[in-house]
Amino acid sequence: MTDTIFALATARGKAGVAVIRVSGPQALAAAAALGAKNLVPRRAALRNLVIDGELIDDALVLYFEPGSSFTGEETVEFQTHGSEAVVARLLSWFRTFPGLRMAAGGEFTRRALEHGNLDLSQVEALADLVDAETEAQRRQAQRVLSGAIGQRAGLWRKDLIRAAALIEATIDFADEEIPEDVIPEVSEIVRRLRDAFRQELNDSRSAERIRAGFEVAIIGAPNVGKSSLLNALVGRDAAITSSIAGTTRDVIEVRMDIGGLPVTLLDTAGLRETDDEIERIGVERARARADLADLRLFLLSPDQQCCDVPKGLDDLVVWTKSDLSPRAGAISSRTGEGLDWLVSEIRTRLEAKVSGSGLLIRERHRAALSVALEAMESACESLYTGEAQLELVAAELRAASHALDLMVGKIGVETLLDEIFSSFCIGK
Ligand code: GDP
Repeated sequence: MTDTIFALATARGKAGVAVIRVSGPQALAAAAALGAKNLVPRRAALRNLVIDGELIDDALVLYFEPGSSFTGEETVEFQTHGSEAVVARLLSWFRTFPGLRMAAGGEFTRRALEHGNLDLSQVEALADLVDAETEAQRRQAQRVLSGAIGQRAGLWRKDLIRAAALIEATIDFADEEIPEDVIPEVSEIVRRLRDAFRQELNDSRSAERIRAGFEVAIIGAPNVGKSSLLNALVGRDAAITSSIAGTTRDVIEVRMDIGGLPVTLLDTAGLRETDDEIERIGVERARARADLADLRLFLLSPDQQCCDVPKGLDDLVVWTKSDLSPRAGAISSRTGEGLDWLVSEIRTRLEAKVSGSGLLIRERHRAALSVALEAMESACESLYTGEAQLELVAAELRAASHALDLMVGKIGVETLLDEIFSSFCIGK
């Protein structure tokens, strides 16, 4: 018989309420032994929880029948007072109850997957939702959690099956009169899928950004005020500022939320020619990181000329130290002038990058879809150039279908599960 698992589903420590979740065939029996009897499915019941004749707590108890719970199994949730002592007492009691054991990290979600309540992409989205720190991340995780990847893959698979069936008919009827020429329709489907896969892969670059965060590099000559700006934006002393040129020798990273978008600000070493070996390495590293960033803020101080501005359409050029030398559009880290404008400008530019962002939020999804795309590309080649070899096209259709199944987790799940669930906390 399957183990019945239990865990604290809320965070440890003092709180208003703590939730203990019990899932498996012994869940109701354990609840009854604690004094929570006569539970009606999906209806909250207030019950005294009693161990060895002693009242431990009065709790709100919720029972979910098999098939209608998160895990798909018989589940009971106890909402107790958020007391560490109450929780500890109940958990140690559950441990002694026959057939019950503490859940491993992510085990509730794993059972939900095993019972088909979630597909693999939804499990990943759930991990992302729990980890979401910004609005954009929450929204994206929610979209995937609702099954959007699975639905899209389902539509694509239908097309693949249709094309495969058309070819199958031709191959089966090879000796007889072919009912009709299937090549035009197969070609149309294959080309449509190829374009759709391409589009999705293109759109997905920004989706990964929302999940993992954008990088914004602050660049400019030494002493233009890069570290001061970083500190002013973050509101704490994250980088050391000093008026000696070249103090920021490496790249300093600070994560922050800019208008709902997750952003890592990079404070880079001043870009200048130098003989100092260590500083030179810092400058090189800064250049390399800045090149890879999603957006570069190029700072100019009042004593500089508007030259040497690196080219690149995305760069935002900003004059600093407006308190020393007022100028339209300049900012001051000292007085805070222009910082609100700067934040909204950064946000607007990053948002433009993610508009129409795709669904494939993980490298794993993209790797799978790339395989499907390659299959469609070679199928196209074989259909459009010369003699169409239908057996080859059929093989490519199968390869694409297999890749989509991998993406959604219809197959090959076992190998992926441990990696995915290692990011889950116990009780989820
Ligand atoms: P970095 O080398 O580009 O990182 O420059 P820092 O942030 O270390 O700043 C260099 C010098 O300029 C320091 O003495 C800062 O106090 C000063 N500074 C930076 N921002 C401002 C500003 O907005 N106004 C004024 N008056 N001084 C600033």
